[in-house]
Amino acid sequence: MTQRIVVVGAGHAAGQLVDSLRREGYRGAVTLVGEEPVPPYQRPPLSKQYLAGAHDLDWLLYRPREFYAAHGVDTRLGRRAVRIDREGHDVELDDGTRLRWDKLALTTGCRIRPLPVSGAEAGRVHYLRTIADVDRIRARLGETRRVVIVGAGFIGLEVAAVLAQLGREVTVLEAQDRVLPRVVAPLVSEFFRAQHAAHGVCIRTGVQISQVSGGGSEPITVACGDGTRHEGELVLAGIGVLPNVELAAEAGLACDDGIVVDECARTSDEDIVAAGDCTRHPNALLGRQLRLETVHNAVEQAKSAAAALCGREFPYRQIPWVWSDQYGLRLQAVGATGDSDQQVLRGAPGEGRFSLFYFERGRLTGVNCVNRPADFGTVRRLLNAGIALTPAQAADPGFDPGTLVPVRAPADFEVPWPARAERVHARR
Ligand code: FAD
Ligand code: NAP
Repeated sequence: MTQRIVVVGAGHAAGQLVDSLRREGYRGAVTLVGEEPVPPYQRPPLSKQYLAGAHDLDWLLYRPREFYAAHGVDTRLGRRAVRIDREGHDVELDDGTRLRWDKLALTTGCRIRPLPVSGAEAGRVHYLRTIADVDRIRARLGETRRVVIVGAGFIGLEVAAVLAQLGREVTVLEAQDRVLPRVVAPLVSEFFRAQHAAHGVCIRTGVQISQVSGGGSEPITVACGDGTRHEGELVLAGIGVLPNVELAAEAGLACDDGIVVDECARTSDEDIVAAGDCTRHPNALLGRQLRLETVHNAVEQAKSAAAALCGREFPYRQIPWVWSDQYGLRLQAVGATGDSDQQVLRGAPGEGRFSLFYFERGRLTGVNCVNRPADFGTVRRLLNAGIALTPAQAADPGFDPGTLVPVRAPADFEVPWPARAERVHARR
């Protein structure tokens, strides 16, 4: 019988994992170790409502502060785990404390990828991953008129939308030839580029950053390989993340751009599970291994990890999805859209409501929806249930794909209350 579980990393996945352990009926000791000084919180509002100053820190919390004591979870916050001893079954923290464990969970997430150019290392460039990062950015906003953002991924575009709405002059520099290149097709990229342009954001694609300089009482200058220079009082880079696997790798666990786990979140050590952004896992519905950087993945995989710690097999087998809010538009992306060879549009981008369905050799693989939540819900259920939708059906405006879903499948994860409030807010 497991007596002591230690969870390393106190983000989304950890918050769900400790909750699920108690729901599984586990009554033993749980210790949650987190490097950040706050209990698990939701990162999505960081680049949206929290950056805009619309919500305070407590609104972000994944579970209320009292939750942990009330459920017998010993929290060690502001503490970093520095070494795992698999033979001795303990983990060492940065203050020298050693915590014994019978089972260990790794939910160490990701860290920002630093901008790899000269001048960027001198504190001139801001990043956005944590509450502390946003507090630093907000502290500079008063003296900021112009903002230069490097990267037109989710962070870059969400921050651009918030800061443009706060009246700042925003320039976005992207290395690829279009925005959101990792997530959406060119048609959707073009839609979002136009939305940003309509709000006065200047987006330049296909540019390489060569140097960052200036600062102090001078503006900061971002120099590009094509000879252009962009000045701002605030520079932010959102150029992706790196999985925190070092702790696991140094302990000898299998890692491959992520801690390698099976469908039940078990690592190569039978006493250690891992969940969230830090894992590489199989997805039976997609038929491949992948590492995901989404809330849905962190929450659902954490449930499987908790079950595995309690000796129960509960495979994580779901179609991935993600959302992004920009200027009152909600993008929802579900499935694997990268390999599609056919796309079908429903709705009208010009009216700000459309869905782009993706097919591979006639088989539905995913959808990008803008302000069409019903299409998103339908495709998610069709893909999870393995029900076919043909390109012809998707193209027929008279056909309702929702009629293919026999019974409304239950939601696959409980959206924590602030996120639910965010949705209500977004619809207004
Ligand atoms: P994390 O949330 O990264 O948590 C890991 C925690 O572990 C961190 O607090 C880290 O400090 C800690 N840690 C790491 N190593 C150690 C150690 N050795 N010792 C102690 N602690 C350690 N996803 C969406 O689906 N939709 C969105 O709209 C969305 N918006 C986002 C907006 C922003 C600004 C960001 C940054 C991310 C967003 N994401 C979004 C992604 C989503 O937040 C992540 O997928 C999710 O946070 C992953 O959860 P996690 O628990 O795996 O990792
Ligand atoms: P991202 O989505 O990976 O986007 C980064 C973008 O920057 C990519 O297009 C990338 O191109 C580009 N880039 C990389 N190096 C560059 C360079 N030197 N100069 C200019 N552009 C460069 O990462 P992110 O936006 O930084 O987000 C970080 C994490 O937060 C991710 O896990 C993301 O999923 C998460 N997040 C999610 C949401 C959401 O789901 N709504 C919102 C915010 C953040 P390449 O692909 O070629 O590298």
